[in-house]
Amino acid sequence: TPTRFAENRPLSASFFKTAGTHIAGGVNGNLRYFTPFPITFKKAKDAWLVDLDGNPYVDYLLSYGALMLGHGHPVIKEAVQNVWDQLGTSAFGAAHPMEWEMALELHKLYPSMEKMRFTNSGLEATLFALRLGLAFTGKTHVGKFEGHYHGSHDHVLVSVNPDLDQAGNPTAPEAVPETLRLPDYYLKHTVVLPFNDLPACEKILTKMKDQIGIVILEPFQSGYIAADQEFITGLRDITKQLDILLVFDEVKTGCRITLGGAQQFYHVQPDLTALGKVVGGGFPIGVVGGRGDILEFSSPQHAGKHEDIVFHSGTFNGNPISMAAGLATIRYLSQSNRFEDMVHRTQMLRKGIETLAQDYGVPFKTIGEGTIFNVVATNRKMTNYRDVASLQKETRMALDYLLMDHGVYSKPLNRFSLSDAHGKREIEITLDGFERSFSKLKSN
Ligand code: PMP
Repeated sequence: TPTRFAENRPLSASFFKTAGTHIAGGVNGNLRYFTPFPITFKKAKDAWLVDLDGNPYVDYLLSYGALMLGHGHPVIKEAVQNVWDQLGTSAFGAAHPMEWEMALELHKLYPSMEKMRFTNSGLEATLFALRLGLAFTGKTHVGKFEGHYHGSHDHVLVSVNPDLDQAGNPTAPEAVPETLRLPDYYLKHTVVLPFNDLPACEKILTKMKDQIGIVILEPFQSGYIAADQEFITGLRDITKQLDILLVFDEVKTGCRITLGGAQQFYHVQPDLTALGKVVGGGFPIGVVGGRGDILEFSSPQHAGKHEDIVFHSGTFNGNPISMAAGLATIRYLSQSNRFEDMVHRTQMLRKGIETLAQDYGVPFKTIGEGTIFNVVATNRKMTNYRDVASLQKETRMALDYLLMDHGVYSKPLNRFSLSDAHGKREIEITLDGFERSFSKLKSN
């Protein structure tokens, strides 16, 4: 554990201890923990965070990618203020016109989403997509990819981050539970597939075509490891032939790879899509959308008995504050060249990091697409979970703690997302942080 980390953050250290007295483990989500303690923040504006001890950081975690316009953007403030003035907060748990406006905007960017439903998180969107898909096909099993994360629910808490000694054959991975005593049902009904290995997937899917109703994947694993074009086109073809539905989980990639997500990037139409994060403009959201005939399975108009309808509900679904913040974000990002400029700045930053890495002789390169990337200590092509699991993590961890000491925050081992607020100045400051960190790494 790096000593300066704790020395520079006494207030975060003591807050973490205090929080642990009534918040389990001191964190509201297991992924928020890192050793020796996670940083606690008191302020955020634009691209910047300030922790309890007053240390400033350029933020690359950005609420796990959700804050595409940075912290506290005025267009979002204005949109939310308008809702507050007209509706208060949650618009009575009933319909209002902004849901429709949002659906229209999303349909423009994601034409595969003919119909949709709003939820409050990415978790709920993937959960509902799978429930719909199994009901529509009448089959029993879900296919998911090793190393892919779809939120914190039972069907997909399988083989997200398995130990390699339990993970089995790379071409036919074992289903490994991701949580204590996951009910056996989910292990047996979740079939684990190897990412970017089309022949292996074809074999498994063909063998289990009568059981597997739906396959879900992150088109970019963890937001940065690309599916090969032939892989994703091939997977689309095979699933279609076998009467298996295909879901793109674009909670992370949505509006970040391109504005129209990974599906626009690959020119592939999934049957269903899950969105979240960016499209809520910093407020809780999830969206499940796709083929109208599938989404209509949840329509209460068509069937009499409740067991004939796929159930979906949620007190805050489509709440006007998330809709307003999301609409403001999408409209802002759709202005000419906004998104392209962000991609350009992301590329500048990546190029800068790679040049510095070469200059200082440290083994890092960057991978990613659009406005997300990761910094990895390898020269090998990264194609799937096995590549991630066999990476040397220590080098990257050492870099992460140095970066935090030099005002660059993305949480250890996390990837980097940019926001509209990351301008030239922030990028220069970040590159300066990388340079100092590389120089220290080199001299250690
Ligand atoms: N799917 C993907 C690809 C994600 O990255 C995440 C969140 N990191 C989720 C689903 C879950 O979203 P939420 O945290 O909003 O439940």
